[in-house]
Amino acid sequence: MVLYWNRPRECMERGQLEVLQLRRLQKTVQAVYHNVSYYREKMQEADIYPEDIRSLADVVNLPFTTKQDLRDSYPYGSFAVPLSQIVRLHASTGTTGKPTVVGYTREDIDAWAELTARGICCVGGGKDDVVQVSYGYGLFTGGLGMHYGAERMGASVIPTSAGNSRRQAMLMNDFGSTILCCTPSYALLLSEILKEAKIPVEDLKLKIGIFGAEPWTEQMRDEIQKRLQINAYNIYGLSEVMGPGVSIECPEKNGMHIWEDHFLPEVINPETGEPLPDGQIGELVISCITKQGMPMVRYRTRDLTSITHEKCACGRTHARIARIMGRSDDMLIIRGVNVFPSQVESALLAMGEVSPHYHLVVTRENNLDILEVQVEVSENLFSDKVRSLEGLAARVKKEVENTINLGCKISLVEPRSLPRSEGKSVRVTDLRKI
Ligand code: AMP
Ligand code: ZN
Repeated sequence: MVLYWNRPRECMERGQLEVLQLRRLQKTVQAVYHNVSYYREKMQEADIYPEDIRSLADVVNLPFTTKQDLRDSYPYGSFAVPLSQIVRLHASTGTTGKPTVVGYTREDIDAWAELTARGICCVGGGKDDVVQVSYGYGLFTGGLGMHYGAERMGASVIPTSAGNSRRQAMLMNDFGSTILCCTPSYALLLSEILKEAKIPVEDLKLKIGIFGAEPWTEQMRDEIQKRLQINAYNIYGLSEVMGPGVSIECPEKNGMHIWEDHFLPEVINPETGEPLPDGQIGELVISCITKQGMPMVRYRTRDLTSITHEKCACGRTHARIARIMGRSDDMLIIRGVNVFPSQVESALLAMGEVSPHYHLVVTRENNLDILEVQVEVSENLFSDKVRSLEGLAARVKKEVENTINLGCKISLVEPRSLPRSEGKSVRVTDLRKI
């Protein structure tokens, strides 16, 4: 039986949905034009005005918004309402400089809770569930975002936040958590901790995992599902646009529904900015059409995916985006070849001989890029027989090189020697001085 949180909205006929989207887009464009200086300036520069948005297709004439625009307007310059109407601030820490600040009005928080509740319900959650939220609570949107949704849905929420993993494992067991929300890498770590703590997964009540905030692969899903004996679902979001819950899988596990009554998605060619047709991989661009505090219009997410508008077997009419394959700025260019960490992950996990823990190190020697893939040997395969490890390294090398079309060095490391992550994992160390 398919459960919906808001059936009329989730299964809205597309024509009606588009009418609603257009009305909301027009209102949002009016609001940002009049209240946010960089939107006004960019729109005037492009000679486009709010009244020029007559159809949804006109969205392509609006200028893009980028993270740089948010940095330039730090901290509050991108808010479309006075600070007195902002009830919550979150921030996303970048690799350099100041964080990106996001602000929510009371209505924004309400809509966010509604959408995360919709998402939890979409993967089969309900009010009888015990939801352990192991995303970090704080400036990061993961923890509080899922918390409000689970509470709105009527579930019992355990706000463990990330970290203190032994305790997490104990609480999961004692409190009978049925749904776990965290990053996929943390789910993997928790599975190891449960084993260490001698808590058999069969004894747990856990049945669903809602994992996101970082790229992961289908192979990683299989691994986590097997280890925790659950159904694992992919959830996507970003703080600039809202936080977790912008998009989530349904039980079909065939793309993530993006809630189009609140967001207008596009996929563009990241180089030219041109829109791409359904099914082609490009950069996801999102316009918020209901947000008040900080409505992003044509925000360039840098996330690479494709979109489909085909109706889903679950009955929901909202478009679906494919698993995020990486960020355009995560892409490594090694000796001229484009490499995504997710490609290495799927090659490693498809082999079934190594553990899901890996790290990429890129260096440059004599003007030549060198990619080293560090991967942990599985506990059961770990042996001190040098010859068998050499054979394994050669097999891993062949598999990875075939996938990425590039020569690399494989370093097999001992089980549990690579750093574990409680939140977003760092998969790459780029030591090239370019
Ligand atoms: P933040 O704003 O700090 O929450 O980070 C948002 C970013 O995390 C997105 O732009 C994506 O790059 C990444 N992200 C979030 N959810 C997923 C997901 N399910 N798969 C891949 N990447 C994700
Ligand atoms: Zn569906």
